[in-house]
Amino acid sequence: MKKEKVIVVGAGIAGIAASYFEAIKGNEVQLIETDSVPGGLLKSDFNGKTYFDYGTHILPEVQVEEIDKFLFGDLTDEDYLKTKLISAGNFYNNRLNEKSCYVDISELSDELYKNSCLELLESDDSKRENLSDFFIHRYGKTIYEYIFKEVIIKYMGEDPQNLDYSIGYFFDMSRVLAFDQKIVDNLNQLDLYNKILGHHKRTEGVMKYYPKVGGVGALINHLVEKISKVGVHVMTGTTIKDLEVNNKNISKLITDNGCYECDRCIWSVPLIFLANLAKIQRKSIRPIFRKTMLYDFSFNKPLNTDCCFINVYEPSMQSGRITVYQNLGAKDESGFSCTVEVLSDEVPTDEEILNELMKMNLIDGQATCCFKQTREVKNGFPVLTTDYVQSSKENNHYYRDQFENVMFIGKASEDAFFMTDVLRDAYMKIISL
Ligand SMILES: Cc1cc2nc3c(=O)[nH]c(=O)nc-3n(C[C@H](O)[C@H](O)[C@H](O)COP(=O)(O)OP(=O)(O)OC[C@H]3O[C@@H](n4cnc5c(N)ncnc54)[C@H](O)[C@@H]3O)c2cc1C
Repeated sequence: MKKEKVIVVGAGIAGIAASYFEAIKGNEVQLIETDSVPGGLLKSDFNGKTYFDYGTHILPEVQVEEIDKFLFGDLTDEDYLKTKLISAGNFYNNRLNEKSCYVDISELSDELYKNSCLELLESDDSKRENLSDFFIHRYGKTIYEYIFKEVIIKYMGEDPQNLDYSIGYFFDMSRVLAFDQKIVDNLNQLDLYNKILGHHKRTEGVMKYYPKVGGVGALINHLVEKISKVGVHVMTGTTIKDLEVNNKNISKLITDNGCYECDRCIWSVPLIFLANLAKIQRKSIRPIFRKTMLYDFSFNKPLNTDCCFINVYEPSMQSGRITVYQNLGAKDESGFSCTVEVLSDEVPTDEEILNELMKMNLIDGQATCCFKQTREVKNGFPVLTTDYVQSSKENNHYYRDQFENVMFIGKASEDAFFMTDVLRDAYMKIISL
C-alpha cells in the first residue's frame, strides 16, 4: 500500500493515539501542537518537588485491546500504580462519604427521601430535552429539585433548563446512592436501575493507572517517546497560520515552523479553528467555558482520607473535585499534596479553599501548608447550553462536509467528551479507513 503523508493537529491524548495508529500502518506522520508541551488536558506541572495534574488524572483501560496495549502495555509495577479498585468519595450535606463518588439521596430529610425512592422506582431514562428534563426523568422531581439543580448551578453557573442533557454524565452525576446494598443488588439485575444506581461498597472496575513519579504527564512523556520510536515527528510550539485546500482536500499546512504537505489530515482541535483558517463564514454561537481554576496544596501531614478523589457536591462550598495524590501512590517530596478544581465565575482565594478543606476535615489543625498555588485551565469545562449544542451540531456538520481528506476526532468529533470515548472513537475511525 502507498505510504501516505498524514498530519495530525493537536497533541492531546486523541492526537497522540491517532498518530501512533497511523504510523504503525506505515504512514509518514507529523503531529502539530501549539503548546510547548504535548498532552492537552493530560499534563502535569512541576513546582520543583511535586507534580500537580491539570485535567484528567487517573487513566482507566479503554477496553479495546490495541488501544490499551498502546497506552499501558509496557508500564511496569515499579513505575505505575495499577489497580481495579479506586477509592473515591463525595462530600454532600456537610458529610464526607468515603465509600462512593456518587451523591447519597438518604442525606435528604425522611419525607423527601421517601418521595425520592418512590419517584426513582418510576424512572424513565428516555426523555432528555434538556438537563432538567434528563434529571427529572432519570431520578424524579425531588432529587432534581433538592439535589442536582443546585449542584448544576454551582458547577455550570446556569439553570439546568438551559443546558444540554449530556452534562448529566459529568462530575459523576449519572448515578445516585439509594436504598441499601441488598436492594441495590436486586434492582441492578434490571438494566435501567443498573445504569442509575451506585454501589454503597467499593467494587472492582476496569484496571486504572497512575504514574508513581511525574503525575499523569509522565505517561504522556512515555507515549510521546513511543510514537517517536515508530517515526512520528512531534512538533510542539507550532502554530498553524494558513492552509491550502484543493477540491475539498487539504494539501498543505503553513505553520510558523515551515510548510507541510499532506495526503490526509486528522483534526483533533475545535472545528471552528479549521473553519477560520479555511475562511468559511457561518453564523454561530460562541462556546462558553466555565472558568476552571486549580488550587494546589502541599502539607506536612497526610490528608485525612484514603480516597484518591472526592466530588464536593455541597452547594455552599466552592470546591469541586479534589485529587489526593498520596492515595494514588505518588511519591511526593513536598509531603502530601492535593489539587482542588473550582468551577466558578468568581475566583476564591486560596485561603477560602484551604478553609473548605479544613471544614471537610481533610486536613487537621496541626497540619502546616508548605506549598500553595493556583492555576487556570485554559478553555475549561464547556457550558453546553441547548442553543449552543444545536448551533454547533449544525455548523460542525457543515464544516465537516467541506473537507474530504480530513478525519475529525477528539475535540472535533461529534460528541465524545470523556477520555475513553475519545480514544475509542478515534481508533474506530482510523481502523475503518
Ligand atoms: C478540567 C477537566 C477535567 C477533566 N477530567 C476528566 C476525567 O477525569 N476523565 C475523563 O475521561 N475526561 C476528563 N476530562 C475530559 C478529557 O480531558 C478529555 O476527554 C481528553 O483530554 C480529550 O483529549 P483531546 O486530545 O481530545 O483534547 P485535549 O486534551 O484538549 O488536547 C487538544 C490538544 O490540541 C492542542 N491545540 C489546540 N488548538 C490547537 C491548534 N490550533 N493547533 C495545534 N494544536 C492545538 C491543545 O494545546 C491540546 O494539546 C476533563 C476535562 C477538563 C476540562
